[in-house]
Amino acid sequence: MTTFGVMKDFSIQLADYILPRFCPSCKNKLTVKEDTICESCISKIQIASTERLQREFERKFQNKNIITDFYSPFVFEKDKELQHAIHSLKYQNKFRVGVFLGKLLGMQLIKSKIDWKMDLIIPIPLHQLKKAERGYNQSFYIAKGLGKILNITASDRIVKRRKYTESQTTMTLVERQENVSDAFNIRNKKIINGKVILLIDDVITTGATISECGKILLDSGANKIFAASIAIAD
Ligand SMILES: [Zn+2]
Repeated sequence: MTTFGVMKDFSIQLADYILPRFCPSCKNKLTVKEDTICESCISKIQIASTERLQREFERKFQNKNIITDFYSPFVFEKDKELQHAIHSLKYQNKFRVGVFLGKLLGMQLIKSKIDWKMDLIIPIPLHQLKKAERGYNQSFYIAKGLGKILNITASDRIVKRRKYTESQTTMTLVERQENVSDAFNIRNKKIINGKVILLIDDVITTGATISECGKILLDSGANKIFAASIAIAD
């Protein structure tokens, strides 16, 4: 190990002694080598198979002709490791979890040999009201972590949410789609003109929000839209 490596490990050890870090899922103390989520919990997260991703793409995006392709490394499972991690990111200000998940997404993208040649990463924006309530957009941290790995700029200043969308959990698929229409507007059309854009959400469920945001970007001059999330859900 280099001197720098030893020093870095030592400083993490010291920091862990003063302020121990815990895994957001199993709550165990993290080791010096572990970053944000423990290795045991990461290994338990269900991987999304190529077949599953293909099926989800057909179901959620293909007919609309907005999203060229999409990728999620994991499957969202209730009350499991990934949900705990995302929950801590959303409600307990664990920004590091977001950046960590974004990096994980980036590494899985590279591992899957996906090379979409994106120019820009844009997180799905939260409405200002919701942002004010929570204080931040969790998907922005995922986008930031991903951008670091892929060396692509992630910006949350290009797309704005226009309408406050009601909680979608109790709605049918059609209601959800209507609910998100006209939800976004583009602040800076010049930046996206002719660009290949990767849209990021934490979990993709119906795909309606991603499609709506992608449509506005295409209508405003973007060349192509890809989408990615940490996990896919039914
Ligand atoms: Zn754990």
